[in-house]
Amino acid sequence: MKSITIKNSNKEITIGKVVCVGRNYADHAKEMGNEIPDKFPLVFMKTATCMINSGENVVHPDYSENLHHEIELVLLVGKTVKNATLEESQSAIAGYAVGLDMTLRDLQFKAKDKGEPWTFAKIFDTSGVISNFVSVDEYSLTGNERIYLSVNGEFRQEATIGLMLFNATEIIKNISSRMTLEAGDLIFTGTPAGVSRVVKGDKLSGGIENIGEIETAIV
Ligand code: ZN
Repeated sequence: MKSITIKNSNKEITIGKVVCVGRNYADHAKEMGNEIPDKFPLVFMKTATCMINSGENVVHPDYSENLHHEIELVLLVGKTVKNATLEESQSAIAGYAVGLDMTLRDLQFKAKDKGEPWTFAKIFDTSGVISNFVSVDEYSLTGNERIYLSVNGEFRQEATIGLMLFNATEIIKNISSRMTLEAGDLIFTGTPAGVSRVVKGDKLSGGIENIGEIETAIV
């Protein structure tokens, strides 16, 4: 998947880079045994080739025994920004979607122990699942939106977007202080508590209220 569409628009947008924020909900940082960050949380990358649409399957890599789901708000960047102010950051957001940052937790913990990058825990093919995007012209985030994920019909993650330690605008401001963001870039904004292992045959469904829903199966 190299391009995305926005609801009620026929424009196709080519995906650029995919920047992901870690530890952006206090209760998830805690469940992973991490300190709650007092400065901007960590950032890692995925690629456009990781991405699939809601409805497509996540292919479980055979070199991992601990695949986890992370449900997240995803931002679509609409224009080039570098060292953006909060105001510029707000106007750089073109749309919102719900996404799954699928993570190989065993590889991630091994990398963490050795002080190595998380790359192989995060960039396997099908590791990013996204819904359609809703344009900011059609919907403004309030922070009260519920974000949720269930596995085989049982809720595992449930929170509200307002619990993010850094909101969408602050995230763009911080990331753009370190790298240029461009139209078509996606930003995964971190996951709330409740991440858990999934195995082949599991069916995942989730969403963000007023933004979208997502569905996938592990194969
Ligand atoms: Zn994540």
